[in-house]
Amino acid sequence: MSTVQEIKVEKLSMKREFYHLIINGEKVESTSGATFKTYNPATGEVIAEVSKATKEDAEKAIQAARNAFDHGKWRKYPINKRSRILNKIASIMQARFNELVELEILDTGKSLHAAQGQVMQAIEDFEFYAGAIVGHRGSVNPVPGQFQNYTEKEPVGVCAQIIPWNYPLMMAAWKIAPAIAAGCSVIVKPATLTPLTAIILGEICLEAGVPEGVVNIVPGSGSEVGNYLVEHEQVDKVAFTGSTPIGKNIMARASQTLKRVTLELGGKSPNIVFEDADLDAAVDGSLFGIFYNTGQSCEARSRLYVHEDIYEEFVNKFVEKTKKLKLGNPFDKETHVGAIIDQNQVDVIDNYVKSAIEDGADILVGGKPAKIEGFEQGFWYEPTVIANVNHDMKVVNEEIFGPVVVIMKFKDEKEAIKLANDTEFGLGSAVWTKDGARATRIANQIQAGIVMVNCPFSAFPGTPFGGYKQSGFGRELCIETLDLYTETKSIISYYGSRPLNPFGL
Ligand code: NAP
Ligand code: MG
Repeated sequence: MSTVQEIKVEKLSMKREFYHLIINGEKVESTSGATFKTYNPATGEVIAEVSKATKEDAEKAIQAARNAFDHGKWRKYPINKRSRILNKIASIMQARFNELVELEILDTGKSLHAAQGQVMQAIEDFEFYAGAIVGHRGSVNPVPGQFQNYTEKEPVGVCAQIIPWNYPLMMAAWKIAPAIAAGCSVIVKPATLTPLTAIILGEICLEAGVPEGVVNIVPGSGSEVGNYLVEHEQVDKVAFTGSTPIGKNIMARASQTLKRVTLELGGKSPNIVFEDADLDAAVDGSLFGIFYNTGQSCEARSRLYVHEDIYEEFVNKFVEKTKKLKLGNPFDKETHVGAIIDQNQVDVIDNYVKSAIEDGADILVGGKPAKIEGFEQGFWYEPTVIANVNHDMKVVNEEIFGPVVVIMKFKDEKEAIKLANDTEFGLGSAVWTKDGARATRIANQIQAGIVMVNCPFSAFPGTPFGGYKQSGFGRELCIETLDLYTETKSIISYYGSRPLNPFGL
């Protein structure tokens, strides 16, 4: 994540109470007139009312996106013009930085520090793709005889983009920026729990000059709107970030129309600390690795493996620092850990912790919903460290998606690799050691899309982000993402002077 300078957020400067859908370049209400409320997880209060898209609205958005793609000008713009508009989106976001930070905090309950970094990264994503698209081009390939072959990259078409609640703006940016850079049209379905910043981003795209129908935003339920987009024959691609079970379901249904599919799914990422690591850096990085964004990160390093020689010392330091983490007012710059997205998620986390206790594990710190003075109606969970666990336990195998980490010992490199790879997931991983050769050996053997070496950060604009195994496939945030939003057309021509007569007749 990017680090940004501290800024003062004017609390509640945002006064808007109603948010529209964006379809075909216009802010519209749902055809059904339905609405839903969005809540501040830190306080439990209603923030705003949002128009609720239905299948009819999804159909309108698909037709708008289809029309923009098939008959519109966006994909035909010279690349530098598209690039300029992406930069304009970034500069409008920058001008509205505080508003976006504030809205993201209100809608998710995340800390000021986390929200600032994520809004900054969303801006940088548009800047990155504004540059990257200029260099994204086809190839000229060697062919025998008097033939010539070159390839062209053409936008894949209408893309449904379904995003989760944990990084609402950043996920919207990861999806929209490369797709529109490539010349596609998009229909974004934000998570019902956190629709606000994606709607604002849609408005910003229009203000920056993205033509009507190219970016449509349809907040509505996954089972209705999401399903409809996934199954529709006029949608060419679906890009999904969310849980592994829903990802599998989407892949199965998208297969009926052979949609292109990109899936960014769950994780249970290992974090390996060797005896020669810089202990303080490893403790601080491991703490950030799990408790950043209140543990609601797909690449949260939720399995911590520590070499037996330093286990006691590491665990003591780690637990002490966990106790120092400050939960509370998300707008307070001192707050490290924000709220949990809703009561349902608090219950999910708590049930995992209870299952660990039943399985005989030890709770070293935390272990229950947190009570925060002044935020009693919000949803909170104590940062929790669980030891004395093994790989048969649910808490070690399944994604919890909350501020809960399990710690285990290992004795050597071989065992560390075996334990790290003993999972159905393969998104993130981290290794802490001063031995460069060992770090390389570990990186070579880890079955995961991302390896962090002595580093607590998993993603910068330009670095590929995505999973192995059941963490999904396809990479976002990088140059190759553009390949996932384009088709490669191969053009073969003959330049000989004698006509060809392949049948010899
Ligand atoms: P989720 O329940 O899978 O939902 C994700 C999105 O899919 C939401 O917009 C949801 O809509 C929609 N959806 C639900 N059912 C659908 C269906 N049948 N068809 C189409 N869309 C449907 O995940 P979540 O609980 O929001 O997010 C947490 C999960 O996301 C975690 O597992 C996490 O690891 C993963 N995640 C992965 C990455 C990554 O890059 N790999 C990044 C962030 C999060 P509604 O909820 O509005 O109904
Ligand atoms: Mg909310």
